[in-house]
Amino acid sequence: MGPVIGVTTAHLEEEINTYPRHYYVQAIYKSGATPILIPVIPDQDAVDHYMQIVDGLILSGGTDVDPKYFGQEPIRGTGRVYPERDSLEIALARKALKLKLPVLGICRGIQVLNIAFGGDIYQDIYSQVPGVLEHSQKAPRNSSWHSIELLPESKVGRILGVKELRVNSFHHQAIRNIAPGFRVVARSRDGIIEGIETENHQFVIGVQWHPEALVEDDDIALNLFQAFIKACY
Ligand code: MN
Repeated sequence: MGPVIGVTTAHLEEEINTYPRHYYVQAIYKSGATPILIPVIPDQDAVDHYMQIVDGLILSGGTDVDPKYFGQEPIRGTGRVYPERDSLEIALARKALKLKLPVLGICRGIQVLNIAFGGDIYQDIYSQVPGVLEHSQKAPRNSSWHSIELLPESKVGRILGVKELRVNSFHHQAIRNIAPGFRVVARSRDGIIEGIETENHQFVIGVQWHPEALVEDDDIALNLFQAFIKACY
């Protein structure tokens, strides 16, 4: 039913457990598409094969990205990393753009997208960005937390249909230098980048918040998912 959407997954070594949060599966299905989970197989043949199977890619949320992938030494404040997942997702993102597949990067996914095309991130906004707001929210996952301002003439701005929005927030890393070919389309009040997109592709969008956890009661969040699924046909 509908397009097939590949969702990247986390892998917990301790529990021998591969998973995305169920929100992703629900949000994709609710938007009229069929989710499939992409396990951590950091191998180019697997990347090529998965990108033949799917009509669109979601780079899901998760742990920190190993700083070696964006040319930095680890600072104190970097969290746990899982390099095999980083390597897989960077390869998936590159392959998806090569094939002109729609991509939605969420939280960690916006950062992976940016890194895959030559940008970098703050390893820990709390120690690296003066005056930063609290981005590790103290409210439930499906509650909004801080506001963002959207570029009205951007794709994201048009899809969401508002100039300002309150979103949820579960990150201590964020984009620092944006990759060539991408532009910033949303920021929180402290200047943290909360949304990016490309101009050269139909739908390659990254958001720092978690719309998949908001779709149940929030039509604006659902709009983003539905626009993504529509682009995957
Ligand atoms: Mn945030």
